[in-house]
Amino acid sequence: MEAIKTRKLAVVFHPIFASNGYPPLKDRVEPSFEYLKETGLFAKENVLLVKPEPVPEELIRRVHSEKHIADVKASGYFEVAAISAGGVVSAASMIVGGQVDNAFCFVGSAGHHASREGYWGFCFLNDICIAIEELRMSGPIRKIAIIDIDPHYGDGTRDIIGDDPLVLHINFHSGAARSRYLDGNNNFDIGLPFDARDDTFMTFAETAIERAYRFSPEIVFVVFGYDSHESDYGAFMLSDEAYSRFAHALGLRFPQKVCYVLSGGSGVENGKRAIAAVTHYLSD
Ligand SMILES: [Zn+2]
Repeated sequence: MEAIKTRKLAVVFHPIFASNGYPPLKDRVEPSFEYLKETGLFAKENVLLVKPEPVPEELIRRVHSEKHIADVKASGYFEVAAISAGGVVSAASMIVGGQVDNAFCFVGSAGHHASREGYWGFCFLNDICIAIEELRMSGPIRKIAIIDIDPHYGDGTRDIIGDDPLVLHINFHSGAARSRYLDGNNNFDIGLPFDARDDTFMTFAETAIERAYRFSPEIVFVVFGYDSHESDYGAFMLSDEAYSRFAHALGLRFPQKVCYVLSGGSGVENGKRAIAAVTHYLSD
């Protein structure tokens, strides 16, 4: 009988995410990371801890304007945003290069509201779009999928990728009970009611995962906003179980090649449980 391969997981973490991160997001970082230690994640031989470097400014310039970069520097969050993006770049490169199967990236500021020339909503540099740029510069990668399950609309990501036919952008958001395709079928918005619970979320998540599977991407980024939890600040009323169910459903179609990137969520206890559920699943 063939042995079942244990998947390799990279966890990206830097202490600056807790010390200098954006206030609504930074308080969750250290307790969540400590909880992973307490629950034995880093005792597993197949889990690799990665301390990221800041992303080079030349790479940021390929995604954001000079004015945007100057504005982020003036905000005081440039360093933490550059290290957050650097972590996503490293994780994505490790996945595509085959050093790890999957990754989970902690961040000190989020990315999906950062557009080419604007930032808001705790997002300064668009970490995933910067990582896509790096992947495209450094090797033959074609198709990329982004599944954004943060309940806020990923307007910055949409602004940057536009109707790029090689990037599938599936974008969960709150406020409209409808789903629609936009811009040549590669952009797919999934609007759910404010009070959407686990079963509603999972019905649409399974549709999203199937759509991503049919697209045959070489890497899948997940914008992992757990502000969708019933006790957190975003819309949707998800329970702890939803994050585990999502990770399992995605893992059935994509046992490898998934890069989770932390997004919204300020709750400490629900954050601990959500992050532990995903990272333990990816390393068991
Ligand atoms: Zn959010």
